[in-house]
Amino acid sequence: MRILVTGGAGFIGNHLCRSLLEKNDGEVLCLDNFFTGNSKNIEDLNSNPKFKIIPYDITDTDVRLDVKITERVDQIYNLACPASPIHYQFDPIKTIKANTLGVINVLEFAKLNGATVLQASTSEVYGDPLEHPQKEIYRGNVNTTGPRACYDEGKRVAETLFSDYNREFGLPTRMARIFNTYGSNMNVNDGRVISNFIVQALKNKPLTIYGTGKQTRSFCYVEDLVGGLERLMNSNLTLPINLGNSKEITISELAKKVIEITNSESEIIYKKLPEDDPQQRQPDISLAKRSLKWTPVVRLEEGLKKTVKYFEKVV
Ligand code: NAD
Ligand code: UDP
Repeated sequence: MRILVTGGAGFIGNHLCRSLLEKNDGEVLCLDNFFTGNSKNIEDLNSNPKFKIIPYDITDTDVRLDVKITERVDQIYNLACPASPIHYQFDPIKTIKANTLGVINVLEFAKLNGATVLQASTSEVYGDPLEHPQKEIYRGNVNTTGPRACYDEGKRVAETLFSDYNREFGLPTRMARIFNTYGSNMNVNDGRVISNFIVQALKNKPLTIYGTGKQTRSFCYVEDLVGGLERLMNSNLTLPINLGNSKEITISELAKKVIEITNSESEIIYKKLPEDDPQQRQPDISLAKRSLKWTPVVRLEEGLKKTVKYFEKVV
């Protein structure tokens, strides 16, 4: 089996490539434009003859993916898209291109290869949700014109494209609605809350809470998430499915936990809440439990300790 991971040098992507190399005999192709991806994340994999890096941008309209990759591919995980708000808002038009032009490029390549293709969708398709916890049947509350739209509307269009390629061409498609994920190999300047808090705490700098800190998220450890993605890929589920940890926590509680675990002298300061920042988020994962027999096992404290160990080495 030859497996392609787009965005393979990114945070989730590098863990996925490593896990796929461990479990499969075939090649793993890691495609990335290195916008937020880091070659250090995959340095240890370079010596593996089954691992190949393909520098490429999925929005490239001059050289299509099937010209770039001539080997036959059996499975594709499409992760190529910046995921942190500061990075996906840096060049919003590029972000929406990754989720439209880029997704079509990947889907066409999958069709040509007869490959099963999995889209890294997101809890952001629910926007600032009016239903809690979020079930897959909830259709969301998204601002089409706000600063997050390039990402969350982009990911919604991507789900539409995946569904249409499945209906029109019978392409085996999978869609994982990934909720907030954290762990080792996040960039120091990733900008998402867990990496920000840990880096700030390790430097004894103030932890920056945006807004009141009463907003909630539910954080999943990356190894759990990767297991869910692999199970989904190898299932026959074509409808979107939530993958995340259902333990919900406020951002204030998270800040306190990080200070405690790192034994930090940091204080907490409050900054402006970004526009359209979702107030409450918690996945209903009963579908994943039932149909994939998947449930996350790493508790937040345990995952945070592992993540702190990683950041201690890089900060
Ligand atoms: P990340 O930013 O660390 O990784 C994204 C990777 O894609 C990077 O290596 C980046 O260089 C690459 N990339 C970006 N645009 C590209 C393009 N046009 N062509 C080729 N490569 C490109 O983010 P992550 O946290 O690893 O997220 C991976 C995927 O999972 C993303 O699609 C994201 O939307 C989705 N997701 C992540 C989370 C999370 O909490 N981490 C939650 C929901 C969804
Ligand atoms: N956040 C925060 N301080 C930070 C970074 C983020 O308080 O330094 C907040 C952010 O406003 C949001 C939550 O933490 O309410 C999660 O933010 P993140 O960017 O990690 O993920 P997302 O908003 O995409 O869920």
